Amino acid sequence: MAVIVQKYGGTSVGSVERIEHVAEKVISYRKQGHQVIVVVSAMSGETDRLLGLARAVQGDYPTGPELDVLLSTGEQVTIALLAMALNQRGCKAISRTGPQLGIKTDSAFNKARITDMDAAGIKALLAQDQVIVVAGFQGLDDDGNITTLGRGGSDTTAVAIAAAITADECQIFTDVDGVYTTDPRVEPNARRLEKITFEEMLEMASLGSKVLQIRAVEFAGKYKVPLRVLSSFKEGEGTLITTEENQMEEAKIAGIAFNRDEAKLSVKGVPDQPGIAAKILGPISSANIEVDMIVQNVAWDNTANFTFTVHRNDYNRALEVLQNTAKQLGASDVNGDTSIVKVSLIGVGMRSHAGIASEMFDCLAQESINIRMISTSEIKISVVVDEKYLELAVRCLHEKFDLADSIKEE
Ligand code: ADP
Ligand code: ASP
Ligand code: MG
Repeated sequence: MAVIVQKYGGTSVGSVERIEHVAEKVISYRKQGHQVIVVVSAMSGETDRLLGLARAVQGDYPTGPELDVLLSTGEQVTIALLAMALNQRGCKAISRTGPQLGIKTDSAFNKARITDMDAAGIKALLAQDQVIVVAGFQGLDDDGNITTLGRGGSDTTAVAIAAAITADECQIFTDVDGVYTTDPRVEPNARRLEKITFEEMLEMASLGSKVLQIRAVEFAGKYKVPLRVLSSFKEGEGTLITTEENQMEEAKIAGIAFNRDEAKLSVKGVPDQPGIAAKILGPISSANIEVDMIVQNVAWDNTANFTFTVHRNDYNRALEVLQNTAKQLGASDVNGDTSIVKVSLIGVGMRSHAGIASEMFDCLAQESINIRMISTSEIKISVVVDEKYLELAVRCLHEKFDLADSIKEE
């Protein structure tokens, strides 16, 4: 008998029929003698609908504690319906919101972090021989406020519960049958990976692959939670997220991630002096805007051009801050671009294979794709290119690095 935490995403619980299908799946695990905790998302589209309501009241970027009160209701609908469906089929089940289950978080509304949970209480509920159906994506802060964990946060709820009660496995059921070499919606020849290391999965998630929330992967890596991504609709082994020692295939590249949420800002003709980078980025960070990539280059006349990227939602604010700084520094020009994307190659094999960057640049050059920015780390290379080249860049790199599914290609 194993203790399994399962998480079903929005599409998997998108209708009453699908919720009933999930109930049948859970029952089949129970029949094998396993104890099951099920974490669910809001029904598909529900979180977006609730956000739309908040926008109608608060404007373009809703925020604050009441937003979390609102968004957390989506998941509450699903737990009630799934627990009903299970009980209806003779499988004893109890629904629990995050706060009811004792999931504690910090007070960073809309993107809170789980800090603690009542593991003993969860085990006591399990011992009553029932399925616990938990609302993902939410918790309670020390002041008794409801909080939510950021988009995709139900993944993190599931992994955190699995870590807290040392479950045998955490299974993330979704609308794809595993983690692919890249988003199969962009490259139909993408191949399912049998295994991927925590490190690679963390890079993939951080660089834009929304199949798992970044924090879920961080948690799973830190607490060594066996984590698997599987399809709710199709039988199969899915993808196991594992440690490097257990990774048998020595592929150079695990996958390609991309991020459409970035925007680029540049300030031109600033003096090339010590302290300039701090003067430009200081006010940006004081405005609570996170900066991703940074490039500085010095022109022949000893002035510097400084370019960086931010989340697209922060673009307008960042531009305003930068324009102010530019005036103070006597810069010649400020400009920005919201139609850029970041495309990244990820693989632990890069450590032992030289020349991957030049192969990547060569491949993009052959398609006449201009690289606007570059950044590298030990296991990834990212480039910023014009948004219109996203699909072309992903597909040509996928082919260049032999990532395609050979069976599908035949
Ligand atoms: P859920 O609602 O179940 O949480 P998500 O939409 O959050 O599902 O995540 C699943 C989606 O992630 C897939 O439909 C797929 O389009 C996307 N995705 C992005 N990158 C990858 C990848 N490398 N492998 C698999 N799916 C990916
Ligand atoms: N319902 C939330 C979202 O849509 C959380 C989740 O599904 O994981 O982002
Ligand atoms: Mg998700």
